[in-house]
Amino acid sequence: MQVLKFGGSSVANAANINKVIEIVKEKIKTDKIIVVVSAFGGITDILLQCSQLAAEGNEAYKKKLHEAELRHLATVKELISITQQSAVLSLVKTLCNEMEDICTGIFLLKELSERTKDRIVSYGEILSSKIIAAKLNTEAITCEWINSAELIVTNANYGSAAVDFSITDKKIADYFAASTSTLFMMPGFIASDINGVTTTLGRGGSDYTAAIVAAALPAKVLEIWTDVSGMMTADPRLVANVKIIPEISYQEAMELSHFGAKVIYPPTIQPVSSKGIPTWIKNTFAPQDNGTVIQKETTNNTNSIRGISSINSIALLSLEGSGMIGIPGFSKRLFEALAVKKINVILITQSSSEHSICVGMDASNADVAKAIIDEAFAYEIETKKVDPITVEKDLAIVALVGDNMKSHPGISGKMFGNLGRNGVNVRAIAQGSSERNISAVICTQDVKKAINVLHEEFFETVYKEINLF
Ligand code: ASP
Repeated sequence: MQVLKFGGSSVANAANINKVIEIVKEKIKTDKIIVVVSAFGGITDILLQCSQLAAEGNEAYKKKLHEAELRHLATVKELISITQQSAVLSLVKTLCNEMEDICTGIFLLKELSERTKDRIVSYGEILSSKIIAAKLNTEAITCEWINSAELIVTNANYGSAAVDFSITDKKIADYFAASTSTLFMMPGFIASDINGVTTTLGRGGSDYTAAIVAAALPAKVLEIWTDVSGMMTADPRLVANVKIIPEISYQEAMELSHFGAKVIYPPTIQPVSSKGIPTWIKNTFAPQDNGTVIQKETTNNTNSIRGISSINSIALLSLEGSGMIGIPGFSKRLFEALAVKKINVILITQSSSEHSICVGMDASNADVAKAIIDEAFAYEIETKKVDPITVEKDLAIVALVGDNMKSHPGISGKMFGNLGRNGVNVRAIAQGSSERNISAVICTQDVKKAINVLHEEFFETVYKEINLF
């Protein structure tokens, strides 16, 4: 059994869906296949906008919803021959009418909960998977459609629900063990809570659906089909000479996906790595390209760095003061205050003098974070044990990632030497004890230069030497 997941751009229109169909046709010649699909590209955003407009009492939601309906209807008309369209067209109509009813409810009540948002966006994946399954069936390729929400059970944290693997794994394993079909179609992204209420797995969560299914079986392989030919050594929008990474370990992929490489949704890695399932990143528009394989062991380890990544819009918050030295519990209070407001911390540094703790976070959270930390330490600030928290914005994180950095002294020397020689000031540094990631916080305006000099140093020179570049 293999699991293939196709993202929003791979199913954005009829022409792209036809490419997906060709890939699936090829695959089913050799194995049983489960196909997981995203909503048509852009539809999740449109459905969120519709629900938001309706909640604001803005009738423009009707026009947007109508456009979404027309897009699905037009895709069906282009994909499926006229004699076989009617059942699919009426299914699309029915589903769009349901969405309209829900939006009318939101509009009348002027109230939109996370739970209702999940219900609305779930239609994106239901529609795409139903349409693609219908297309396969009209081509005499029997395809069994399964509602993922009946197999994947989560908590009720709408918008980004956590999977209950003890229930989910059993449901998935039992379902597929009992079915005799050779081709299955599932909507990605959607699940349900213990009471059967629709939930979603977070934006980009269709990758995760595919990984959950693959791990529960377990499948021989997971393929994530997207619009690039694999994970790259750096962001191609910033560096001209980027290369596809042919193979990468689960941990490296996890580090790179967290740090800006949007090729795979980070939670996807955990289920497949726990079962050692090789996971390929493949390009729907260039299926002949090798892609990247993410697996336990990698063989091509000539370079100690696997990739360079970056995140923009970072703010650095620093808590400083002599009153922190040698006092247990300061960091606990700091992180607790942030956790209560659900503020995600991306990077942490603390000097060994214990005189300051620095946290990096998305800049959009910085003002709220400052207010709550100042409040949490109000007594210490008033008694001059610590200073009011300082906030610096317009920052970015640049990170070197590679399992092999561990056995190679001098990488950070090279990294910071290069940044220094090129006039890039480093505001904070973090390296985990796994030595798999060295992160530097720098000014946003220096990111392009920093990534280019690092790419040249760690990839272009090395590759040139061994004739790979
Ligand atoms: N459709 C969802 C999104 O746009 C999930 C996905 O495509 O993975 O976030």
